Amino acid sequence: MAFVTYSFSAPVSQSLFERAAAVTPGGVNSPVRAFRGVGGTPRFMVSGKGPYLTDADGREYVDLVCSWGPMILGHAHPEVTEAVQQAVARGTSFGTPVEDEVALAEEIVERIDPVEQVRLVSSGTEATMSAIRLARGFTGRAKVVKFAGCYHGHVDALLAAAGSGVATLGLPDTPGVTGAQAGDTIVLPYNDLDAVREAFAAHPREIACVITEASPGNMGIVPPLPGFNQALKDLCTADGALFVSDEVMTGFRVGERGWFGIDGVVPDLMTFGKVMGGGFPAAAFGGRKDVMERLAPAGPVYQAGTLSGNPVATAAGLAQLRVLARDDFAAYAKVDAAARQVRQLTAEALTKEGLAHTVQTAGSMFSVFFGEFGESGVTNYEDARRQESFRFTAFFHSMLAQGVYLPPSGFESWFVSAAHDDAALQRIADALPAAARAAAEAVAA
Ligand code: PLP
Repeated sequence: MAFVTYSFSAPVSQSLFERAAAVTPGGVNSPVRAFRGVGGTPRFMVSGKGPYLTDADGREYVDLVCSWGPMILGHAHPEVTEAVQQAVARGTSFGTPVEDEVALAEEIVERIDPVEQVRLVSSGTEATMSAIRLARGFTGRAKVVKFAGCYHGHVDALLAAAGSGVATLGLPDTPGVTGAQAGDTIVLPYNDLDAVREAFAAHPREIACVITEASPGNMGIVPPLPGFNQALKDLCTADGALFVSDEVMTGFRVGERGWFGIDGVVPDLMTFGKVMGGGFPAAAFGGRKDVMERLAPAGPVYQAGTLSGNPVATAAGLAQLRVLARDDFAAYAKVDAAARQVRQLTAEALTKEGLAHTVQTAGSMFSVFFGEFGESGVTNYEDARRQESFRFTAFFHSMLAQGVYLPPSGFESWFVSAAHDDAALQRIADALPAAARAAAEAVAA
């Protein structure tokens, strides 16, 4: 068996992790944070500034996780921080409507053409769960189509063959999800239109909706093949089902209008989270007015939340979206340029070591799959699971030891921010050769 040494210790993180494990299952509040996919001690972070994080042992890292997407302006951006401080000073929750909720909804409706009305919630999970309920309520149908490797949060009906932590931990199924909850879920291989046609043929007028990540980032980056999303929309329309595009990860990140701005496919419903909350729990679902109007109190489909549209979260989200929209700041150009550079540097370092790999890209999101995948690359979950994870593990730990914080799993996207400047990129460039060497020398356990 291969012996992997993790090249430096983190005593304070280690002792915090031991304390955490005594009172919290697995020591974390979200599974992928636990480093189970790569081994070792998760780093407890104490602060972030721009592209950097500092851990409890006082070590600084260039952050390529960005809180799993939200921190597109970098950490503690002054305008977001200022907006939050002002909001907190006014009071943190009223349980009544507030103006910033309206303003945030307006910002979303203004940017994303298919969204005529939007409802704010507190997490991406709530957004997809509510969108599914609404699709079922609107159509009067029960079945939901999802794709293997797509992750839509920990919604019971959507956990089957899910990506992200479910993929990292290699869980076949989640105990606690009953047959009744999952029985109406049809799981299909991603990028396989024939499978979708067959599902509609087998269940005519029974499918409430097809939900897909607009461009999947939870099995690593696996973009839709040309025409895939449009064909999904067309098949849904032909059958009277709704097309739900999950932009929790891509929304406001791959551009001001998210993946919709890239492929122009018009969904019936969309879900958002991450960037729109500015680092706070804010998410949303929205779309066609005639569908959204079925939601309580306008319509009969119930959905609610004590902290939905929370004033601090909406202030943070609004501030972040407004900075992103500023022409003089050119945030997306900065994010795109940083992403391009990290991708190129990574590919160069891996190629130099003769490592078979593919770097897959969706706008400014990208990830690396170690292994041989041929010309078409990784197009679905089955391909993604063939990656040489043992190489990613070695690569990850070498980068970590050199002060670069990557997502601790090969099934996750890498994220950069507008704050990833030349100095941060240089640190990544300096770390890559040794990490590539470690990946090349790694042997399967
Ligand atoms: N949908 C997608 C595409 C996601 O990537 C995620 C989270 O990573 C979710 C939904 C769930 O969001 P949350 O973690 O805020 O519940």
